Amino acid sequence: MASLEASQVEQHLEWDTPLFLMARAQFEQALPHSDVSPMIAERLSFPERALIVSVPLRRDDGSIRVFAGYRVQHSTVLGPTKGGIRYDPEVDLGECAALAMWMTWKCALLRLPYGGAKGGIRCDPRSLSPREVERLTRRFTSELVREIGPQTDIPAPDMATNEQTMAWMMDTYSMLIGHAVPEVVTGKPISVGGSIFRREATGAGVVMTAERACRRLGTPLEEQRCVVQGFGNVGGVAATELHEKGATVIAVSDLSGGVYSPKGLDVPDLHAYVALHGSLAAYDRGERITNEELLELPCDLLIVAAREDQLTAENALRVHAKLIVEGANGPTTLEADAIFAERGIVVVPDILANAGGVTVSYFEWVQDLGRLFWDREEIRSRLADKMMDAFDRVWSVSEEKGITLRQSAMVAAIREVGGALETRGIYP
Ligand code: NAD
Repeated sequence: MASLEASQVEQHLEWDTPLFLMARAQFEQALPHSDVSPMIAERLSFPERALIVSVPLRRDDGSIRVFAGYRVQHSTVLGPTKGGIRYDPEVDLGECAALAMWMTWKCALLRLPYGGAKGGIRCDPRSLSPREVERLTRRFTSELVREIGPQTDIPAPDMATNEQTMAWMMDTYSMLIGHAVPEVVTGKPISVGGSIFRREATGAGVVMTAERACRRLGTPLEEQRCVVQGFGNVGGVAATELHEKGATVIAVSDLSGGVYSPKGLDVPDLHAYVALHGSLAAYDRGERITNEELLELPCDLLIVAAREDQLTAENALRVHAKLIVEGANGPTTLEADAIFAERGIVVVPDILANAGGVTVSYFEWVQDLGRLFWDREEIRSRLADKMMDAFDRVWSVSEEKGITLRQSAMVAAIREVGGALETRGIYP
């Protein structure tokens, strides 16, 4: 140890996993365009706080098993931190740190008064009974009680957690504090302070940005022939919105594969089918295709709303869409991104396109704090204002700097946080 330079010792921290180093590298690539000082850049390269807890669970058979739980808070410059809680075997400190940093940029881009956080429990949720998941959630919440709070850190659902998980977190926190605190989490059921339109918000926001991008590119949304990968919460709602706005949805897919009709699919019929049968597996009102084929169909607009790493160096040259909108997080690899830029295919990046969810989470928090109840139209119109404002700022930076929308989204976000931190200064 004595032979190591002090800077080398400092540089290797516990969250420096490949994923976090990738998040930091993206940040560093955007810095030259972002006009922030080296001092501010250095501060924002690190999460502010990280917590590891061990969470004991009494299994249904009476035995005890201990799980690792994490919460990382990246930045409190603009307000409390905000981000999901996931239950997954891959959860670790580096993953939470990377996702927390990305949440900081997403919130800042939308001008929400939050920084980013992420947390979770390293477990296989499918091996746990519903009662076990409830006990694990309640104990994890009690371990976090000094870290989370409506003014400090506000969790939300993520992988394998849902409205019910948030209701258990809200209840446990409220029991420990002594009164009902619905504003401590978002993504709750409406009966305990959740917001109307939260479920549809991400998919609706995806289509709002797609419509804006079409307008900027000079082709109305109604004339687009659209392909949607993923027919879950985000993709299913996006397909409905496209259909209702008069665009033609020619193909959709889920884990079971895709269905294609060049004349256009009947989206309400697809939803009715999935509600009845659980997936698109045997849907026969169209040609059956694989997910790989779906991504390469001739179309105008491709919405990728399934999962990460779908558009890669392997298939990017065979993608025919003119516009790609990222409903999922991380669906395009860095190599594919470079190929699309080279080919003039416009990509609306995830931190902008799928920010509708966190934006309506913010509306949920505001309504809870004010004991207010906004209706669907009010929430939809406020969401549209936020998404359009962010889209236009990103588009302007892209034109001004001659960089991609992904790079300009990062630049616009870093400017928000960096500018605020510059003004606040570094304490003390
Ligand atoms: P979901 O589980 O409801 O839906 C995912 C859909 O994708 C399902 O239809 C599934 O069958 C399908 N799918 C999975 N793998 C596939 C593959 N390889 N090919 C084709 N289809 C596949 O999940 P979701 O909430 O819709 O999330 C989708 C993506 O959007 C994720 O990347 C998530 O992180 C991101 N996202 C979701 C929200 C939200 O509010 N739900 C917000 C921001 C980002």
